[in-house]
Amino acid sequence: MDVFRIRDSEDVRKITITNFEEATQKMYPYYQVNNNGKQKLYAVCPACGNTIQIINLYGIQQVQNITNVATTYGRHCNRNIAGFDPIDINRKENCDLYRPTPLGNREIMHNDQTSIELKQLIENNRDAIKKDIRKILSINLSHNILDRVIDSFIESQSYSYRAVTKYNLPYSIIYYSEAINLYSQYLLEEGRLFNNIKISFSSSRYFIISEENKITKNTNKYAEVYFNFLSYRRLNDRDFVRYKIFESEADNEYNTIFEDEIEIELIIYNE
Ligand SMILES: [Zn+2]
Repeated sequence: MDVFRIRDSEDVRKITITNFEEATQKMYPYYQVNNNGKQKLYAVCPACGNTIQIINLYGIQQVQNITNVATTYGRHCNRNIAGFDPIDINRKENCDLYRPTPLGNREIMHNDQTSIELKQLIENNRDAIKKDIRKILSINLSHNILDRVIDSFIESQSYSYRAVTKYNLPYSIIYYSEAINLYSQYLLEEGRLFNNIKISFSSSRYFIISEENKITKNTNKYAEVYFNFLSYRRLNDRDFVRYKIFESEADNEYNTIFEDEIEIELIIYNE
């Protein structure tokens, strides 16, 4: 996970050096030195209240094999840590951030209360969620499209799936949606994937990116361009989905234009 809170506080924050130092004042029990003289950092999981260890806040302790880059994240502790409540194993096993239900699963459901809260959270944060979806995709999807996708998520009661948490809404809204048509949409210049997506369109048979960064056709032939999220996976306490843009000319012929595995970054919305 990439969020934390401190004890006796409801304030959920992203794990960054500044946030962590300010919230903890670098004090015990958040900063501890173990028997081997090594500094260890701890905090509380916002979802289940159990103790988490903060990995890689300062520099490289562990290099992730997927990206070869050391990332900072919080990991649930397996044993009791001095200064924190004893581990509540039951709550930990049921924690959405410890053992997330894979995105795409439609069988395991939240209880009614959690579902109502999630629905409310989406309705209260609709604009922020739209903005975050655009940023994640690096595509400036129109209000029309995003409203349709969010409405369908709500109408289908997809927020009831256990895989949907209050921290992954933009990702789960897209994941549970059918493929989304991208024709006439604009790339988002400040998006992290902007350049990669733009370059990848050179492999498209039918579509180009115009000078105004609009996805448009370079032929009169029938063809469509879509994107979707697929293949959720969890690796080293981190969550990933495959983001794919593809074109189709006939019913079953798809040509991949762009594909990337992106990390699900947890996002905090106001309740
Ligand atoms: Zn937890």
